[in-house]
This record gives sequence, C-alpha cells and structure tokens, in this order.
Amino acid sequence: MAESKQTGPSLWPAPDEAPTDADLSRCVHCGLCLNSCPTYLVTGLEAESPRGRIYLARAIESGELSLTETIQQHWELCLQCRACEAVCPSSVPYGRIMEHARAQLDADAPAGKGERRIRKLLLRHVIAKRPVLRMAMLPARIMAQRPLRSLARRSGILRLAPPLQRLEAQLPHRVGRPFRPGGKLAQPAAPSAGEAVLFVGCVMGELFGRVHRATGRLLARRGIACSAPEGQGCCGALHAHDGDLSYARKLARQTIDAFEPSDPAPVVVNSAGCGAAMKEYGDLLKDDPDYRERAQAFSGRVRDLSEVLAEAAAVPARYEGTASYQHACHLAHAQRIREQPAMLVSNVSGCKQVSTGGEDVCCGAAGIYSIVQPEMSAELRARKAEGFARADPGVVVTANPGCQMQYEAAVREAGTGARVMHLAEFLDAAEQRAARE
Ligand code: SF4
Ligand code: SF4
Repeated sequence: MAESKQTGPSLWPAPDEAPTDADLSRCVHCGLCLNSCPTYLVTGLEAESPRGRIYLARAIESGELSLTETIQQHWELCLQCRACEAVCPSSVPYGRIMEHARAQLDADAPAGKGERRIRKLLLRHVIAKRPVLRMAMLPARIMAQRPLRSLARRSGILRLAPPLQRLEAQLPHRVGRPFRPGGKLAQPAAPSAGEAVLFVGCVMGELFGRVHRATGRLLARRGIACSAPEGQGCCGALHAHDGDLSYARKLARQTIDAFEPSDPAPVVVNSAGCGAAMKEYGDLLKDDPDYRERAQAFSGRVRDLSEVLAEAAAVPARYEGTASYQHACHLAHAQRIREQPAMLVSNVSGCKQVSTGGEDVCCGAAGIYSIVQPEMSAELRARKAEGFARADPGVVVTANPGCQMQYEAAVREAGTGARVMHLAEFLDAAEQRAARE
C-alpha cells in the first residue's frame, strides 16, 4: 500500500478542503467496520476497506505519503455507502472524510484528469440545470418505451455499446410523466394533519414522477396537504460525493432559499441520497456566516417519507404476495432509518416479507458509481440478483431512485419477473387495493 514516502507537513493538494485530523484520528483501527464494507467483502483487501482508506488519508495528513494514482483508485472504489460509519464504535464520520478526500481529487487527481473534468461538467451543467437535464433525459424516456426497448434488445444493437446496454438495463420498467416543481399533487378532502412540502430532486422528478404523485396520494390519505414549491433544484448530493464541495454548497444555498418561504412545514423527501445530504447541510455550510444557522434550521425540517408515514395515522393496505424490502444505504446507514420502512411494508395485510440475504448491503448503484466503476457495481448487482433468484420475491421494494434502477437490472439478471417499486408506489398501490375491497 505504501507509495512515495515523505515526512513533514500534510501533503493535501487542497488543504482548505482536506479531511481534518480530528476526524481521521477518531479511527482506532479496530476493524469492526470491515465486514460491513461491500468493497472489502468483494476484494478481501485492506486497502479497499474503510480502515485502509482512512489509513491512506492519515498518511497524507501526516506527510508520509503524497496523493498517488493508487491511492486515488482505492478512494474511487469506495461506494460512499457509509455502512462502515453505521457500525463504527468510535463514530468515525467516514462520509465526511471521503467527501473531503474526493475534494483532493477534484483539486488535483493523479490520473484521469480529463474524465474527472467531464464528470464535473456533466454534474454541474446537466444534472444541476433542469432545462438541460430535461433535454438529456429525453433519450432515456424514448428508450424506455416498450416497443423500442424490445426492438433494441432483440436486435442486439446494445451489445455494441456496453455503457448504453448498462443504462438500458437500469431504466425503470415504465417511465411516466415527469413531475416538476410547481406540479399538482393529490390533496386531502380535509387537511387535518397539517402541511408539508415535497423535495422533487433532479433525475427523480424526470424519471420517477409517478413516485412523487404516489407520495402526494399517501400524504393526502393521512390528511397532509403537500405542495412542491417552485424554484427548487438539485440538492448537490452527487456533487459532494464527487468532491465538488464548492458547487454542492452553492446548490445547498439555492435549496435553502427555495424552501424558506414554506417554513416551518416539513420538507418531505423520497430519495434517500438527497435526504441524507439535506440533513447534513448544517455541516456542509458550517463556515458560511450567512447560511450556517439557516442551514441548520433547514436540515431540521427534512424528513424521509417513511418517517412521516410511520408517525401518521395508519391507512388500510393490502397486497397478496411476497415482497423484499432492500435498504437504501443513505437511509439505513447515513440517516439510520431502518425500522420505519420495513415496518410500513410488514403492516401491509397479506404481504409476506421474504429474505434475500444482504438486504442492507449496497446494491452498487451509489449515485454515478455504476457508470464510473462498472465492474464493482456489476459484482454487487450480481450478488443481489442471486438473492432475488433464491428467495423469488414478487416485489422488490426500496426507497431511492438509483437503487430502484439497479434493482431493475438485478431482477432481469435473476430472471424472476419481480416488480421493482419505490416504497411510495408499493404502499400507494396497496392502499388503493384495500380501498377497493
Ligand atoms: S473506522 Fe471505526 S470501525 Fe473502522 S477501523 Fe476505524 S474505528 Fe474501527
Ligand atoms: S462507505 Fe461503503 S464502500 Fe466505502 S469504505 Fe465505507 S462501507 Fe466500504
């Protein structure tokens, strides 16, 4: 693991954004995180474990190592799933450490500078710009049309372009109408349980508009009047994970501005990655005197949909069949929300939960990870597919759009014909069924 040895001051390319010594020195090398780490489980290598990656960061911090291509590869293989953080007895803030480690690559990557630059441009100028994203998603929306999709598959043309083939495999089984800020959601006949505002997100709104509409119906049945304020955009989670912290902060400020007029209504989020990022705005903007307190106040309003539903009055729901709830990493590990979604699924009458094994292990979607680390992503997806083939659930339920797309591909690999549904869609369909009976 050792690279060029040096001693002396820290060798971070971007010292202002470097992981802090206080965070790094929390790690006591106990190794309790190793068997929770997907990349360690696959490779068996210390350098692909949380402890190994922290060790490398500490060596740069203490001036023993400089940032090399090998270190870059070890950090880039990390999924940022934060399973390690959830089990760490020393409360090592691994997610924060890795975001700041990636910021070093953003400043000066020893390898693949061109690729990183393109990635940064795409994240800044496509994902974070709604009109551009809308255009960029058009091919995906066209490709998702069933006749075209079947034709593309049968013709074998996708095999000529593996990235396109991977993308097609991940597309939702149907892409309905997008849902954008300002869009109309179902409203309760009598708003008896207060108001909420919905965070729409970037890709989520374009490809999973149906999940937002289902979210509106779930809240309306519980007497919660929900709207989706105009002016909101991307939360910046993908930018932060990629180390582009300055742009992540800019998007965080925009998000706070967009939601302040609706204060104190809870900000309901149905995408685990976005929710985790927004709950941590207080930390992201802690050095910004204008936004520090506003960020903390905003983060305090952010609620995952499952938290809101678990606290609201129960609504009858029915689904005759088997289901498997797969934890979304940024819900289970980053937000530590595990019981609520599992409980909501098990409360559906007639539903039998089956175990696929490894429900809380990352599926390999991890934001843009499946695009930039296709091999590890495919290995983790294959493990999920094995579990699906073995347990044969009728429905695979999850709570994050990226996971949903990865499970679409995993189910196809498993060849079981299971439906993949967001928790909001699953509960909404089950409540509609119960209401009809
Ligand atoms: S990150 Fe936490 S669990 Fe892992 S080795 Fe360090 S102290 Fe132990
Ligand atoms: S974030 Fe996930 S992949 Fe990265 S070190 Fe932690 S457990 Fe491993």
